[in-house]
Amino acid sequence: MKILVPVKRVVDYNVKVRVAADNSGVETQGLKMSLNPFDEIAVEEALRLREKGVAKEVVVVTIGQQVAQDVLRTSMAMGADRAILVRTDDALEPRAVANALKAIVDREQPNLVCMGKQAIDDDMNATGQMLAAKLGWPQGTFASNINVADGKIEVIREIDGGVETISLSLPAVITADLRLNEPRYASLPNIMKARKKPLETLEASELGLDLAPRLTTVSVVEPPERKEGIKLNNAAELVEKLKTEAKVI
Ligand code: AMP
Repeated sequence: MKILVPVKRVVDYNVKVRVAADNSGVETQGLKMSLNPFDEIAVEEALRLREKGVAKEVVVVTIGQQVAQDVLRTSMAMGADRAILVRTDDALEPRAVANALKAIVDREQPNLVCMGKQAIDDDMNATGQMLAAKLGWPQGTFASNINVADGKIEVIREIDGGVETISLSLPAVITADLRLNEPRYASLPNIMKARKKPLETLEASELGLDLAPRLTTVSVVEPPERKEGIKLNNAAELVEKLKTEAKVI
């Protein structure tokens, strides 16, 4: 079984982003960039399936600029076998990414696409669903546990107020939620080894992909500032304030 893991380069989750002065988006210049955390979980899950003998090969793919190859190297340092960069300078929306990923799926013919449930930069939570629809494959989104057996994959999904277990026939798309696993750290020797693993670059323009944006960002603004809170000494004071100031009881 071959597993394809789409990974995205995003602003590191520890960085506090600032809105650009012209409200056109957020400033990303000079910020630390990393592998999207949910994609790290997806890579880890694919590696575990390979280590269990369920999968033979784990291929990572990213759509983006040349610099995005750093997240491919990170994924290979974790253990992925090889990587594909679909190079483009275009701003990408989930529909465009799903189109590009479908082209890679058609080339690579994986049995499973294991990806993040969402990219933490624009929080779209749409690419996996769109890709499954374009491929006509079943999808198991928000996976917190998976089990592959007899050409099927059982997925435990995180849903509102509980979990749902579904069984999908392969090939399928699954998207990883936070509780699926705890990703490993790449060791220094593996970081060195990853430098020699194959990384293929394909020009998006040569693949004949439709990456044209359909969304226009009207404006990006900071959330309203919250008023500073106060500390009360006891419950009686709280009840008093709820009665007299907030007037909610
Ligand atoms: P999103 O729908 O943008 O929240 O992203 C969901 C998932 O799609 C991510 O966790 C990645 O696995 C994948 N993805 C999104 N953008 C890209 C990209 N540019 N290249 C590769 N995979 C991507």
